[in-house]
Amino acid sequence: MLSGKTALVTGSTSGIGLGIALALAQNGARVMLNGFGDVEGALAQVRRHDPKAVHDGADMSRPEQIEAMVRRCEADLGACDILVNNAGIQHVAPIHEFPAERWDAIIAINLSSAFHSMRAALPGMHGRNWGRIINVASVHGLVASTNKSAYVAAKHGIVGLTKVAALENATTGVTVNAICPGWVLTPLVQKQVDARAAAQHIDNEAAKRELLAEKQPSLQFTTPEQLAALAVFLCSPAADNIRGAAINVDGGWVAQ
Ligand code: NAD
Repeated sequence: MLSGKTALVTGSTSGIGLGIALALAQNGARVMLNGFGDVEGALAQVRRHDPKAVHDGADMSRPEQIEAMVRRCEADLGACDILVNNAGIQHVAPIHEFPAERWDAIIAINLSSAFHSMRAALPGMHGRNWGRIINVASVHGLVASTNKSAYVAAKHGIVGLTKVAALENATTGVTVNAICPGWVLTPLVQKQVDARAAAQHIDNEAAKRELLAEKQPSLQFTTPEQLAALAVFLCSPAADNIRGAAINVDGGWVAQ
C-alpha cells in the first residue's frame, strides 16, 4: 500500500516508534529510523521488510540536527512523504521538585522537535501535494496526571500544534493527526512500573496491575502493533479527510 512512499520515524529504535517503523516498512515504505540505544538491532528488524532502511542519529533536542536529518531523508530516500514525530522522554516529580533542566529537555524533545521537523518537511510535501504527519502525543495530551508537568504540557502542546498544522494544510494533500496512547508497556513505562514496585515492595506483575487499574479501564496495555496499525491506516487513502484529529487508543482512559 505504501510502496513508493518514504517515511521518517523519530525515536524508532525502541517501543512505539520501532513498531510504527516496522509496520510502515511491512506495507512497502522506505524507512529512515532515528533514536539512540540499540540502533543495529532496530535496523536489523526493519531491514527484514525494507532492506535499504537507514538510521540517522539526530538528537531531537537540537533543531539544526533535526533539519539536517529531514534534508538527509529527502536526499537519500528521495523524499520525506510520511513524518512520524514519536521521540519522547519522561520525568516524574512534583513541580516544586522538578529539575528545570528536565523541563527544558522534555519540552524540546516531546514538543519543539515536532515543530522543527514539520517546518523542514512541509515544503517538500507541498511540492508533491502529498504528505502524512503523525504526531505521537498521549492521553496526557488530553487529560492530566500528577507529577508529569513537563510531559503533560508538552503533550497538550503537540495536540494543539497538530490542529494548527492540519488547518494550515487542510486544502492540500498533507494531513496532520495525533495518536494519543494510554499505557503501552515500553521501556519508558517499564521505568514507572519499576519505581512503583520498589516504592511499594511489590513484584513487577503486581505493579503493572496497579498501574493499569489506576487509569486504564480495559486493564490491558495498548500494544505498539495496535498503534502501528492505526498509523498505517492514517497513511491510507481512507484517511484522506481525517485532519487535526487526536485519536486516543487508551482502553477507555479519557472516557472516564
Ligand atoms: P521508548 O523509551 O521505548 O522510546 C523512545 C524513543 O525515543 C527511543 O527510540 C529513544 O532512543 C528516542 N529518543 C529519546 N530521546 C531522544 C532524542 N533526544 N533524540 C532522538 N531520539 C530520542 O518510549 P515509547 O514508550 O515507545 O515512547 C514513544 C512515544 O510515545 C513518546 O513520545 C511517548 O511520550 C509516547 N507515549 C508513550 C506511552 C507509553 O505508555 N509507553 C503512552 C503515550 C505516549
